[in-house]
Amino acid sequence: MSDIACINGNFVPLAEALVPIEDRGYQFADGVYEVIVAHGGAPFLLDEHLDRLQRSADGIRLDLDCTTLGLGALIRRGIEECGYGDVMVYLQITRGVASREHAYAGSITPNLVMTFKRKPTIDAALRSDGIKLETVADTRWAHCNIKSIALLANVMIKNAAKQRGYFDAIIVTPDDEVLETSCANVFIVRDGRLITPAADTRILHGITRGFILNNARALQISVEERSVGRSELMAADEVFMTSSSIDILPVCSVDGQPIRSGKPGPIAARMLESFPKSAAAANA
Ligand code: PLP
Repeated sequence: MSDIACINGNFVPLAEALVPIEDRGYQFADGVYEVIVAHGGAPFLLDEHLDRLQRSADGIRLDLDCTTLGLGALIRRGIEECGYGDVMVYLQITRGVASREHAYAGSITPNLVMTFKRKPTIDAALRSDGIKLETVADTRWAHCNIKSIALLANVMIKNAAKQRGYFDAIIVTPDDEVLETSCANVFIVRDGRLITPAADTRILHGITRGFILNNARALQISVEERSVGRSELMAADEVFMTSSSIDILPVCSVDGQPIRSGKPGPIAARMLESFPKSAAAANA
């Protein structure tokens, strides 16, 4: 009896199972999973688990058909090979391996990983005495200020936007408050003032955002960190987004409506001047 893993159909001892670090499950939590138990070698509620797996895969637009993957047969084989009888099967399908970018190409091949371990027994006292719980506010996932690798929601936003022909999407609250994009902070310019959503738990506190704010203050440009409504965004003189990987990108239109003239504005251009020039640009 031993813990084993199955990677894309190949069974290996668990300790030898490895996945590439650019697997999108590892870098973005871009995947779905199931936990299935077996009693005396028989998987319990297998069809129900595989149905939910398919729904989860469809939900994140993972293009696969769980029935053609032969998952049932692989799961039964793993349960038999590990030899525990009572088995905990962990099954994970990720979007696959690709160079790290939120947006993915349609050509990525999903990775299927399973582990087969002895099913832990539940302490009998927990069943006989019962357990203690507490209530908490639903904070799932309300910590956008934490630069977590759990980026599946961001990945889905970016790819849906891309499919609709946009570079990215600006995330707004149900009250039409502007937050940020899937991977960058947002600034607007109004009457020469630079305005950006306040750094609360609903946005990532971008390092580039901080650099821009400091830079603007040093240039005597007035800055405001406060709530920005969608209507204020649409009426702005300029809109731009910022992140470490893009520095600044001017936004020419939102939802098909031009921002002012529909051309990059002077404040974004001025802010861009304060960034170090790339070696390629310096040599051009
Ligand atoms: N907002 C989100 C959601 C991001 O993922 C990022 C960068 O990854 C940013 C903002 C910008 O942060 P920074 O300027 O530190 O790169």
